Amino acid sequence: MLNFLRAENCLICNLSAGSNFFRQSELLRLGVLKNRNTNPHLSFLMRHTCKDCLSKLPLLFPENTWCFEQSDLEIKALFAYQEPINRLLLNYKFYHNLYLANWFAAIMFLVWQKYWFYHKKQAVVVPIPLGKKRLRQRGFNQAAKIAELIAGFSEITFLPDFLIRQRETARQTEMRNMTARQTNLKDAFIINPDSDYLIRKIKQENVTVILFDDVTTTGITLLEAAKPLLIQGLKVRAMVVATEHQVID
Ligand SMILES: [Zn+2]
Repeated sequence: MLNFLRAENCLICNLSAGSNFFRQSELLRLGVLKNRNTNPHLSFLMRHTCKDCLSKLPLLFPENTWCFEQSDLEIKALFAYQEPINRLLLNYKFYHNLYLANWFAAIMFLVWQKYWFYHKKQAVVVPIPLGKKRLRQRGFNQAAKIAELIAGFSEITFLPDFLIRQRETARQTEMRNMTARQTNLKDAFIINPDSDYLIRKIKQENVTVILFDDVTTTGITLLEAAKPLLIQGLKVRAMVVATEHQVID
């Protein structure tokens, strides 16, 4: 555990990350060296990731956006839900390791700098909310934490309470099939009733709502969360850290 917290160790393999100079080529390949103004995030990433782990990250290249069937919701994912990303996300979620939230935020910010820069004034970030009970059990909303950090890095407005999960739902991973998953989440999300002013402002200024979640498999959670926003006529896109969905080039 002490090793894990030491600044120069790789968060993925726990070996020293400080002494390997050849990371530059991997960082270039990942596209994180585009803008030198992002140094604090870059140095965080470098201190916490060794060259070998950087070279094995299951990044989805190049501009990995897609829509699920029968939907116009554009989804953007940085990683495939594979080793080591799946392991890191589980560690983060169940052991509350906030270093990992920082790591995910730093790499998502750096790889997609152009995207964040482009949306700076024209987007708000809205995390997928947890139900009250789940939030109490876990103590924090894992998607919101990462989203908040990225929003901070890119100076995009973060709206953690814009959406509400109005009833408790079973874990999607416990559902047997697509239909069960759909029923489980049907009408689960509403816009916070205190948000009339915000809705008007977002519409007037033609702002895009970026829905943010950690993982997507079938996309149903994102589609259900987008529904109340689309009904209000808002422009919605979705973003996830990782996807189990097969992304076809
Ligand atoms: Zn490593």
